[in-house]
Amino acid sequence: MKLAAWLLIACACHAAESYPYWIAPCTSQLARESGCESGDPELAEWALAAWQRASQGSLAVTKSASEEGARIRIYWVPGNQRLYGETHPLLVNGKPGAAIHVRPDLAQLGPDIEATGRKDPLFRHVVVYLTCLHESGHAFGLPHTAQFDDIMYSFAYGGDIVEYFMRYRRRVESRNQIRQHSGISASDQQRLAALFSLPHR
Ligand SMILES: [Zn+2]
Repeated sequence: MKLAAWLLIACACHAAESYPYWIAPCTSQLARESGCESGDPELAEWALAAWQRASQGSLAVTKSASEEGARIRIYWVPGNQRLYGETHPLLVNGKPGAAIHVRPDLAQLGPDIEATGRKDPLFRHVVVYLTCLHESGHAFGLPHTAQFDDIMYSFAYGGDIVEYFMRYRRRVESRNQIRQHSGISASDQQRLAALFSLPHR
């Protein structure tokens, strides 16, 4: 009987919040304009999948059949004033969503980032992946933190920005390993859990 009661409670949990997503393909024209690479949409998908895993069942990200139907839309845009990415809120079929602009050209992100990326192509992929991860965190409703260890840390607090990316870079030996290392801190994960346990979600 105890087991049956436990199962009943387990089944009363919230259904996963569904986030259909759409990611712009990196066409050759877009590559010239923004510095995106053909594999960048996959890095963005890995970032969304990382949040889904961290949510432990609260979030479900699925590929949308159309851009219009997507709650999360990711675009590759030209560099501008050392801005890594931006997230703009959207309302999609009555639900909160976001348009994410990622700037994948390291040459526009300051001399230290550019020089490190030029020596180390994997560092460049790490910057693009972590930018997608940070911006999609905003898309799911996470605000900035002042804790350097968090992916949601804001560069407005200063600190060693190259190290923000390098600490992750040291954990991977190949691009493919990015898929296994989320880059989400324990406190990022706790904040996400708190957000999706709210009754209005
Ligand atoms: Zn941010």
